[in-house]
Amino acid sequence: MSTRTKADRHGLAPSSARSSSAARRASDAWYEQWSGQAACREEDPELFFPARHDGPGVAQIREAKAICRRCPVVEDCHAWALSTDQEYGVWGGMSERERRGRRERRKPNGRPPAPCGTESAYQRHLRSSEQIDEACRAAHRDHRTAARARAKAAQGRP
Ligand code: SF4
Ligand SMILES: [Zn+2]
Repeated sequence: MSTRTKADRHGLAPSSARSSSAARRASDAWYEQWSGQAACREEDPELFFPARHDGPGVAQIREAKAICRRCPVVEDCHAWALSTDQEYGVWGGMSERERRGRRERRKPNGRPPAPCGTESAYQRHLRSSEQIDEACRAAHRDHRTAARARAKAAQGRP
């Protein structure tokens, strides 16, 4: 078994350079939460980073996706890879080409979507009936707590 993990191959959680440092910390913490249960920890990391999308790359991507299908954290991995704009490799059962296609389709105003671990991302998940990950749930809890505190303060209550 290889002792290198997919994250080593990849560099840990290179969150989008556009995200704020708070969002980045949230997404790094989120990565820490699920990555320990990754089915690909036991696999050769190279499998998940095919050099090409055609020829032998097709079978390689299929093999990597088969591992994702039996991975207990596939939902988190999938959402994390999208929210941190992972450019390369198979993550959460999705190839880099599939992620790129999705990114292109989702850019009506040229702005990147809010990263996971924010209230905006939580609201987006709700609107699109997407699975809501733990980072976004936590952001939403914080958001509500802060809103309640503001409302109380406005009424002069302790
Ligand atoms: S979903 Fe796939 S890439 Fe993500 S942690 Fe699981 S096995 Fe690894
Ligand atoms: Zn999210």
